[in-house]
Amino acid sequence: MSPLIFPFLLALSCGSITTPEGGFKHLTLPYATDALEPYISRETVEYHHGKHLLTYVNNLNKAIVGTPHAHQHLTQIVAEAEGALFNNAGQVLNHNLYFLQFSPNGGGRPKGALGMAIQKEWGSFEAFQKAFETQGLALFGSGWVWLAQDEEGALHILQEPNGSNPVKHGMVPLLGFDVWEHAYYLDYANRRADHLTSLWNVVDWNVVGARFHQ
Ligand code: MN
Repeated sequence: MSPLIFPFLLALSCGSITTPEGGFKHLTLPYATDALEPYISRETVEYHHGKHLLTYVNNLNKAIVGTPHAHQHLTQIVAEAEGALFNNAGQVLNHNLYFLQFSPNGGGRPKGALGMAIQKEWGSFEAFQKAFETQGLALFGSGWVWLAQDEEGALHILQEPNGSNPVKHGMVPLLGFDVWEHAYYLDYANRRADHLTSLWNVVDWNVVGARFHQ
């Protein structure tokens, strides 16, 4: 892990850090379970946050006992751990970032430094959206598509398999769309593309922009 990027990862607001008293906490949603409708249904949020994420939190808390990672920051565990500990820590980090990046008042486009950086890298916000959706759609199997920032500040779109996250590559995760079927099958069946397109309506660019560093 580059010492340059690490302060930004530690500063990342991701809902959960380890404590000596033990245990990562299940993220409390900052909105009601039906707040993201019609783009993400109450039923999907109840399963996805209430059951899937809770299972990852419980499995992480079991897997971490007695390991050298027991008192590390969540991002550090994801960057350094392997196997079941990495898988579950990755999914806790991923889902915390995911649920916190949405708002019923979301949508629109990024402003300020992040908006300018996206414009510079992809030419327009629309071109970025298209590239992001294309990467999410093309990801084979289960995983995530991320907008991430490297230690030099440059933006990248990354496809990460299963529970992986840009921190595995020393990058700061800014925005992540979950393309595991559990994220969309109740609402969109097999229409992953429609799901990805709809998520722009609930992205809170103030939250995503606060993860970006200049
Ligand atoms: Mn998920």
